[in-house]
Amino acid sequence: MAEAKVIVIGSCNMDIYSWAEHLPEPGETVIGQRYWMSMGGKGANQAVGARLLGAEVTMVGRVGDDLFGKQMLETLRSHGVNCDHLRVDSGAGSGVALVVVDKRGENIIVVVSGVNMRIDRSDVEAAASELRAADVLLMQLEIPLDAIERAIDIAREARAMCILNPAPARPLPDRILRKVHLLTPNQNEAKVLTGIRADTLEGAKSAGEALLSKGVQTVIITLSAQGALIVQPGGAQHMEGVPIEALDTTGAGDAFMAGLGVALGEGKPLEEATRYGNLIGALSTKKPGAMASLPTRAEVEAFLRNRVGPGR
Ligand code: ADP
Repeated sequence: MAEAKVIVIGSCNMDIYSWAEHLPEPGETVIGQRYWMSMGGKGANQAVGARLLGAEVTMVGRVGDDLFGKQMLETLRSHGVNCDHLRVDSGAGSGVALVVVDKRGENIIVVVSGVNMRIDRSDVEAAASELRAADVLLMQLEIPLDAIERAIDIAREARAMCILNPAPARPLPDRILRKVHLLTPNQNEAKVLTGIRADTLEGAKSAGEALLSKGVQTVIITLSAQGALIVQPGGAQHMEGVPIEALDTTGAGDAFMAGLGVALGEGKPLEEATRYGNLIGALSTKKPGAMASLPTRAEVEAFLRNRVGPGR
């Protein structure tokens, strides 16, 4: 099978978690029990996810000229992600997400985007030849829209399929919706984009149709444990989720994107690619964290062998 060529334009963050009895009130200092740092950012997660599934991956974005930036570059390189277009920018710090979790699992999160919000057209244009050579372009909304739009314009001139994961949720101009080939909101994001509640299959179908009427070619609404709903002009198709005992669903959307993107890049039809996205999303819920929970191709194959049973 030909290796999929995937290019990701997006964010890199260091996620810093701390756990405490309760969340601090304004002005209060709370002594926590432990902390954990993990590489993240939707862009970096999707890049590593696609690479672990065997794709050739280029990451376009920025890291700060600081410790976290160095670690991010090292991590991505150690996975074999091409970082030639991951610029080190001293104009701001690396992106960080500061998370506090209390004993009930409630959390507060502060995201400091740092250099992620300084990504602009020049970053995209520097990677134009990789964009033109790609099978699939994966994007999310943790970086400026202007850079995203430029990436779509370059990729569309060539043959890359442009997949936008509209996360975190925010409204988008129709101009951008008209340009993407595939939009992959979760239920909450679909609601923010359309105003239609997408928490049932019927609701998701209506939200998907509203997005089609804004000019999106194909919508895939991810439905957590229920899998995903493909909505196209010809109708909607529900692809069931993979039954699994979920431990931590953080990053499932990124894992889904990686699976979907790699399968489409390998030339698989949309239904099969969505099923693969569901499988990768489900497998990512078996481990804690986002980047740390992404499955490798070997893990996926082992899961499928065990599920089907030996010799079948
Ligand atoms: P996000 O993580 O962006 O909120 P979802 O919760 O819809 O997105 O999850 C993305 C995909 O991950 C789903 O479409 C599904 O394939 C898979 N997934 C998520 N949670 C589960 C679960 N509990 N069981 C099985 N698959 C899941």
